[in-house]
Amino acid sequence: MLTEFQLIERYFGRPSAASAGASLQPGELGIGDDCALLAGAPDHLAISTDMLVSGRHFYADVDPFALGHKSLAVNLSDLAAMGAKPRAFTLALALPQADPEWLEPFSRGLLSLAARYDCTLIGGDTTAGPLTICITVFGHVPPEQALRRDRAKVDDDIWISGTLGDARLALGVRRGEWSVADDAMPGLRQAMEQPEPRVALGLGLRGLAHAALDISDGLVGDLMHILQRSNVSALVQIDALPCSATLSSQTSTVRRQCTAAGGDDYELCFTAPGANRAGIEALGQKLGLPLTRIGKILPLANPSAVVAIEWHDAAGRRIDPTLRGFDHFDAN
Ligand code: ADP
Ligand code: MG
Repeated sequence: MLTEFQLIERYFGRPSAASAGASLQPGELGIGDDCALLAGAPDHLAISTDMLVSGRHFYADVDPFALGHKSLAVNLSDLAAMGAKPRAFTLALALPQADPEWLEPFSRGLLSLAARYDCTLIGGDTTAGPLTICITVFGHVPPEQALRRDRAKVDDDIWISGTLGDARLALGVRRGEWSVADDAMPGLRQAMEQPEPRVALGLGLRGLAHAALDISDGLVGDLMHILQRSNVSALVQIDALPCSATLSSQTSTVRRQCTAAGGDDYELCFTAPGANRAGIEALGQKLGLPLTRIGKILPLANPSAVVAIEWHDAAGRRIDPTLRGFDHFDAN
C-alpha cells in the first residue's frame, strides 16, 4: 500500500508533459511545502488547501462553532508556517442537510476567526453530500522572507511554539486509551477543537528563522519534511518537548508519544541560527507565547547517508523511541 506522501509524489507530484508549458518560475514553489508560492510584486502569493472530513478529522457531534473555527484555523496555520499574512479564503462545503441550527454557529465560528485575522471569504461551492469542509487560503509574503521547508542550515537551533500533545491526549481520553482529571478536560478539548493559528509568530519570524512548518501530523513526521527538503539531519531532546501540566502528569511513555507523534497541534516548528536566540526569545515574550529550543540541525553523516532524527533523553543518552507520525493511508 502507498503512504499518503508516496501517493502524492507518484500521481500528482511529477511534472507532466501537459504542465510542461506552464512550469513554475525561479523563486516560485509548488507541491511539498505548507503553501505554494506564486510570483507577485512586491509580495509572493501564498496558497494552501486543507480539507476536513466528518468521522476522519472530527466527530460528527462536534460543536459546530468550534468546527467552523478549526476549519479555517488549520488553513491559517499553513500561512503562518510560511510567514505569510492572511488575505482571503474560499469555502467548499458538502452538507448532509441544510440545517440552520448547525449552519448558524458553524458560520459564526468560521467568520469570527476570519475577522480576527482580517481574512475575507471571497467565494466557494456548496453541495449536498457527506459533511466535508474544504478551505483554500491566500496570503502574502515577501519572497526572500518566506519560511520554506528547504532552508534549514547545519547548526540551526530547532524551536517549537506553545505546547505539543494535548490534542492527541484529548483524543486518547475520548477513545478510552488514557484518563485525566475531569477539570483538565476543558483545556484538552480546547486544544483539539479550537487550535489558535500562530499567524503573528510566523510574521515575526520573517528574517529570524531559516525554515518552518506547522505540526499537523506529529513532530516526528513533520520535522522529517524539513530534514528531507533541506538534506540535513537533527538531534532532538525528546524530554525537552514542551507540554501542558496535564500532559506532564501522565507517564513518560504517554507524554513522549503525545508530544513527539501526536498530531493536530498546529504549533510551529522552526529552525534558526544561534545568533538569533535573543531575538526569538524577545518575540516570544512580546507575543506571550512560549518558544522552546528542542534540538539542533546536524550535517548528514556522509553525502549518501539517509536523513534522520537522533533522539536524546533528559540525561543526553541516545534512545530509540519508535515513534510514528500520522499518515491518512496507514492501517491505524
Ligand atoms: P500540510 O500538512 O502542510 O497541509 P500536506 O502534508 O497535506 O501539507 O501535503 C504535503 C504537500 O503535498 C503540500 O505541498 C500539498 O499542497 C501537496 N498535496 C497534497 N495533496 C495533493 C494532491 N492531491 N495534489 C497535489 N498536491 C497535493
Ligand atoms: Mg502545514
